[in-house]
Amino acid sequence: MNKIMTAASMTAADTEAPLLVVESLTRRFAGRRSGIFGQPSTVHAVDNVGFTIRRGETLGLVGESGSGKSTIGKLVARILAPSSGRVLFDGHDLAGLDAAGSRELTRQIQVIFQDTLGALNPRLTIGHQVREGLDIHQIGDAARRDETAKAMLAKVGLAPELFSRYPHELSGGQRQRVVMARVLLLEPTLIVCDEPVSALDVSVQAQVINFLEDLQKRHGLAYLFISHDLRVVRQICDRVAVLYLGRIVEQAPRTSLFQNPRHPYTRSLIDAVPIADPDARHRTKTVAKGEPPSPLAPPSGCHFHTRCPFAVARCSAEVPAVRTIGLDHSVACHRVDELELAA
Ligand code: SF4
Repeated sequence: MNKIMTAASMTAADTEAPLLVVESLTRRFAGRRSGIFGQPSTVHAVDNVGFTIRRGETLGLVGESGSGKSTIGKLVARILAPSSGRVLFDGHDLAGLDAAGSRELTRQIQVIFQDTLGALNPRLTIGHQVREGLDIHQIGDAARRDETAKAMLAKVGLAPELFSRYPHELSGGQRQRVVMARVLLLEPTLIVCDEPVSALDVSVQAQVINFLEDLQKRHGLAYLFISHDLRVVRQICDRVAVLYLGRIVEQAPRTSLFQNPRHPYTRSLIDAVPIADPDARHRTKTVAKGEPPSPLAPPSGCHFHTRCPFAVARCSAEVPAVRTIGLDHSVACHRVDELELAA
């Protein structure tokens, strides 16, 4: 049945099941032509990725630029179609939804991006843009929609006077709240947050993160939180998946990942963040060698072998299998049993 459940129709058993299940998700793009015959190259932006998100949970997706984080966000939000693999929302395959299911899904999965100026139309007032979703879905009459939009602005901590202002008259933090107000009016269940605080000052970042956490508690929202900033991820996420050149190399609950990272790439990311803990300062750091390779020509075997300080011959020859090594903790590294990387 191609029907998405509403919160009211969920049973207790439903609330136990993951809200989102991503299975073997792969997305390839055609790259530039190369070689003497101009053969088209292929970019494996996302390669056989799998994860779940429970209701009310925040899963962090971390990795360097070009690791495939944003592409995964777009695949989950159906801005892009997968080359293969499945995305199941509330147990329903997104690819198999009929028109009604598809409309309901568009409402239930929303996205907020880093670029708030780009997300808002500079020529339309804040009120007009917050109200837009209600206009599109013809919810209530014009006066009622204005009232609802103003109430939502108040809910996200913005003064009613901003209703008639334009995006350029607001600060970055205020614009991010406007985007959230617009999204919340549609009563989503899952929000894909793609670097939502990266463009903000550190003090405003903290406010927006507190605000996101508060909204999550009040509305039971689930977040797919995409970020390159481990400090932010450590603060807001319940579980974390680490991406390297399109593959998830480690996935674990937040505490396990930060206290007991088992993949050398995860360790190198954590070690690259300045820390206040004096004990940890004396530990030998894991440093990734050189720059990340181009996704156009990822290294063979374990993609990380060209930068990994622990690489052996097998690493360039074989793709490491994903292994479960603890409660909800999985790693893709041939040497996971030998390496001692804990904090
Ligand atoms: Fe390093 Fe080899 Fe493990 Fe890859 S598989 S992370 S290269 S030790």
